[in-house]
Amino acid sequence: MHIILMGPPGAGKGTQAVLLAGQEGIPHISTGDIFRAHMSQGTPLGKLAKEYVDAGKYVPDDVTNAMVRDRLAQPDCKKGFVLDGYPRTPEQARALDEMLAELGLALDAVINIDVPDELLVERAVGRRVCRSCGATYHVRFNPPREAGRCDRCGGELYQRSDDQEEKVAVRLNLYHSQTTPLLQFYKERGLVRTVRGDQPMDQVTADIKEAVRASR
Ligand code: ADP
Ligand code: ADP
Ligand code: ZN
Repeated sequence: MHIILMGPPGAGKGTQAVLLAGQEGIPHISTGDIFRAHMSQGTPLGKLAKEYVDAGKYVPDDVTNAMVRDRLAQPDCKKGFVLDGYPRTPEQARALDEMLAELGLALDAVINIDVPDELLVERAVGRRVCRSCGATYHVRFNPPREAGRCDRCGGELYQRSDDQEEKVAVRLNLYHSQTTPLLQFYKERGLVRTVRGDQPMDQVTADIKEAVRASR
């Protein structure tokens, strides 16, 4: 299955993408995770991305598209992928079409995780991420057993620099102006399935599973 998970910042894309990718045995490709990995290693791409990520803005399309193009060309993408946080602009959606055509692949579903804006600021501000394994927690909705420590690997939990309230507001505005138009683009192809993200995590997981089943 070749799946896009769409949704605003804090919707639960990362949380659900990990589960879905594990269940399907396909790679989870998060452009945000790839940028953060480059940033923490201080690569040239990381240095370029940092100014945009820290400001809550989108990294330029040409840079993002080139990075995704490399990733999708890896052999593990043949049988499927869960794309998390890409595409985010009309130009990225056009580029993705081109990449998939070159690779002889087709999208099976665009799963849209819908969450009202008023819930998203608290979701993002309370998010904590493991520095070692990338697992995501929430101080209130999904707390680790020991504050500040990852349940899975014992790693240190940190707050992303772009998960401050003002930056979340910038990211939300950008999502509504740049990314929601993509829903229409994919709706015209009959690919979009919307799932309510303002439910307990397990219920969201079950609804996504059903949406995937219905797209086979
Ligand atoms: P995204 O990748 O869309 O930005 P995440 O998966 O990182 O979102 O989730 C954002 C935050 O909200 C995390 O702290 C996560 O633990 C929490 N979260 C995810 N899904 C839910 C849910 N259904 N209910 C409450 N909190 C959630
Ligand atoms: P979110 O929780 O907002 O969905 P992500 O971890 O997916 O966050 O992305 C974090 C940041 O990485 C974005 O705010 C943006 O700066 C950059 N980024 C991620 N994906 C893209 C993309 N497809 N195009 C441009 N920038 C991106
Ligand atoms: Zn961990």
